[in-house]
This record gives sequence, structure tokens and C-alpha cells, in this order.
Amino acid sequence: MSETVIGRFAPSPSGYMHMGNLLAMLLAWLDIRARGGRMIFRMEDLDPARSKPEYIRALAEDMRWLGLDWDEGWPDPAYAQSRRTAVYAEAFSALEAKGLVYPCYCTRAERLAAASAPHEGERVADPGCRCARMTARERFELEASGRRPAWKLHAPDRTVTVHDGHYGVFSRNLARDGGDFIIRRADGVYAYQLAVSVDDMLMGVNRVVRGRDLLFSAPGQAWLIETLGGTPPAYCHAPLLVSDGGKLSKRLGSLSTQALRQSLTPHALTGRLAYLCGLAETDAPVSPRELMSGFDWEKIVRDDIALT
Ligand code: GLU
Repeated sequence: MSETVIGRFAPSPSGYMHMGNLLAMLLAWLDIRARGGRMIFRMEDLDPARSKPEYIRALAEDMRWLGLDWDEGWPDPAYAQSRRTAVYAEAFSALEAKGLVYPCYCTRAERLAAASAPHEGERVADPGCRCARMTARERFELEASGRRPAWKLHAPDRTVTVHDGHYGVFSRNLARDGGDFIIRRADGVYAYQLAVSVDDMLMGVNRVVRGRDLLFSAPGQAWLIETLGGTPPAYCHAPLLVSDGGKLSKRLGSLSTQALRQSLTPHALTGRLAYLCGLAETDAPVSPRELMSGFDWEKIVRDDIALT
């Protein structure tokens, strides 16, 4: 019997979605549905300071509005990362038991950067902070002065290769290119890299489709999943939409889903997305379901898509 294909939507409710998020969601949906697979909706609301209830509501509504459905997940709280702390704590302990975790007393700015998804261009290469080599006494003194550490994972000096379904072979030496990374912040919040890997593993996700800005993270996530005893999913990254040379951000008002919903029907927006990424020859209105039969990654462009 062949394995059930399981994919996921994994948005972070730190803003309204924009056209680029919707394109990645549409392609994720098509990729899974065209294979007869199951779709999970996971709410990546790890960071309490950035996740707003209004965005959480809007994310799910926008997906329904566009016609992208899911089989399990939100609003079941078991699929909200903010409610899965015990699961991440267990994985943390497993990594600790392997001697892979150490406390890091570096600055708050670094900790914040590490806890959100490190999209390309935002990532900070970690040249290896000296916390990894601190003596017990130095740690004791820092603790005594009131400093609370974040927790980092030792990245091995190993080249990990993922065979991306759209961008092909992508390799990265985890220690040299990226380095150690935070898996738990000083305030106790587990970081994106740990949570996403643990969730993909435990939820049985075997196909991950998301924006190309996260391709860089794929080898590290695959390694983390293997280290925790799981099998990494197949990764397939989607092209990004860019405007004025930069990738879209959730702060971009006019291309937010909220604004698009005022001026376009769901099928008009789907048609536009399908045309922009190369899936359709015209931008005629179409439903996601109608795109299923002709869905083929070969048709989809790899370069960033400039919005004019
Ligand atoms: N939650 C992440 C984001 O919205 C995406 C995580 C993923 O797809 O791996 O940027």
C-alpha cells in the first residue's frame, strides 16, 4: 500500500497574509490535492509577542475565501504551536541527552532573530559564540548576576543535501554555513527551527511546500528530524513574489489579502496567481480545484516573480 501524502499549511499570524503567502499556500494545496493527499493546517503562533488573535482569525478566513481547504488542524488547539510546548520540551530533552544543547548568554537581539522564521536575507550567520566553550564557573557567575540563557543547538560540521522538488539539489554545511542555532529563547519560547521540525515529524508530514526563502533552512530541519529519529519530508519550494526588488512582507498593505479581497473575487485572484507563476497561460478567473488536473511543477517558474 502506498504511503498517504500529507502536507501542511503553516502560517505565522504575525500579520495579514499577502499575495506571496497566498501563492505558496495555493501551490501547497495543489501539490497535495493533486496527489490525493491530506492537508493539515498548523497555526505557527509560537511567539506570543507577535501573534495577534485578529491575524489568526484572518489567516483561516482568507484560506477559506480562496477555496483552500484542509482535513485536520486549526481551530483544533492541538495544531497551534503555542499549545504544544510539552511536545517541544520533550524533543529539547532528547537533544540535550545527546549532548547537542548548550546555554547561550548572548544578546536579546540575537535571540529574537532566531525565534522567528529565518527567511533569506534576515538570517544571521552564527560564527559560533563563545558560550559553547564557557566554563561552569563563568556560567555560574552569569546566572548569579541574573542573566538567563537562550539554548542553542550545536550544528554539526556536516554537509546535508536536500533534493528539492522544484529547485533541485541544495546542500549546506550546517556548521560552516549558518552555524549553531537557538532552539529555545531565554523567555522559554521554543524557536521556529525546533518547533517546525518536531511538528512536521510528529504530524507525519511527508511533503513540505513553502516559499523559497525557507529553502536555506531545509537541510538543518532535515538533520534535526533525523537526529530526533524521524524521516525528513520531501521539500518543494515555491517561487517568491517581489515588488521593487524586495520580497513582499506582511507589512505591505496594498497586496495584503485584506486589500485584495476588496477588489478581486477569489477566482480572479487564483487566476492571477496561476498566471504569474506559470501554471496558467492567461489570468482568466479559475478555481483552485480547476487547476488541479493541469498542476505540474515543471510549468512553474523558478525565478522570483516581479509584480509591476
Ligand atoms: N511559519 C513560517 C512562516 O510563516 C513558515 C514555516 C514553514 O513553512 O516551514 O514564515
